Amino acid sequence: MFSNLSDRLAATFKGLRGKGRLSEADVDATVREIRRALLDADVALPVVRQFTAAVRERALSDEVSAALNPAQQVVKIVHSELVEVLGGQTRRLRFAKTGPTVIMLAGLQGAGKTTLAGKLGRWLREQGHTPLLVAADLQRPNAVTQLQVVGERAGVTVFAPEPGNGVGDPVDVARRGVEAARERQHDVVVVDTAGRLGVDAEMMQQAADIRTATQPDEVLFVVDAMIGQDAVATAQSFLDGVELTGVVLSKLDGDARGGAALSVASVTGRPVMFASTGEGLADFEVFHPDRMASRILD
Ligand code: GDP
Repeated sequence: MFSNLSDRLAATFKGLRGKGRLSEADVDATVREIRRALLDADVALPVVRQFTAAVRERALSDEVSAALNPAQQVVKIVHSELVEVLGGQTRRLRFAKTGPTVIMLAGLQGAGKTTLAGKLGRWLREQGHTPLLVAADLQRPNAVTQLQVVGERAGVTVFAPEPGNGVGDPVDVARRGVEAARERQHDVVVVDTAGRLGVDAEMMQQAADIRTATQPDEVLFVVDAMIGQDAVATAQSFLDGVELTGVVLSKLDGDARGGAALSVASVTGRPVMFASTGEGLADFEVFHPDRMASRILD
């Protein structure tokens, strides 16, 4: 992911190298190339506009004209603007002061929520927590079993609806899952929820009801980095529907252009907190905007 964007930006900066002074024409040509590279990588247009305007303004300021190495200074500016687009500083999970911390996962079907629940569970356990995974995705026939399988692999307990007791009502399952966590002294609850192939009113209402029933400390929007430009509109719908607190980029191991996923933080104003980079439970990392920016500009 992002290799094409990386190459394009590297080529752009190469053209500036060795220049002792940057003229306005140099800056404009550079900004134009950055703009094209971002658009070709699928970065959303409003994000590209804002980004390039900020880079242009800073590249024409004293910050660059007074720099010993103007070209290097432009790279620094692009780096810091990329960090901003990705949500600024690393944003850690917010834990509840009392009672179990509730983390709700939201997103379209196939985004990677159930897989992420297992990854988060494993990671939380490694950090010394005692997580409980709650199977509140009753939409997809296999979702409950799938969560039980990843839970077992992750060594994390799963709360699933027992046959004949509340099956069919995901809101009730989610509520009872959080109660069970409280009774059984789990300090974190990860609630897996149902998605659909596209945004739909019934699904959004269900997610909103689960939010109300479980009062989550975090509502993480899981977005498949491979879905391209749809990522931004989908994120906006979930932001409106369930008040997200953070973003998780999944399938960053793919070869898609990825720019749309990069735009989600900027468009929603919610930081990217985690990245999923494969199907295995260990293919997961805390997202650091500065490191991702460095990776893109390396
Ligand atoms: P859900 O419908 O949102 O719960 O999505 P799933 O967790 O079932 O994931 C959908 C598919 O994507 C499954 O086949 C997963 O193995 C796969 N998947 C999930 N996360 C990743 C990832 O980070 N990289 C790759 N390559 N595949 C993933």
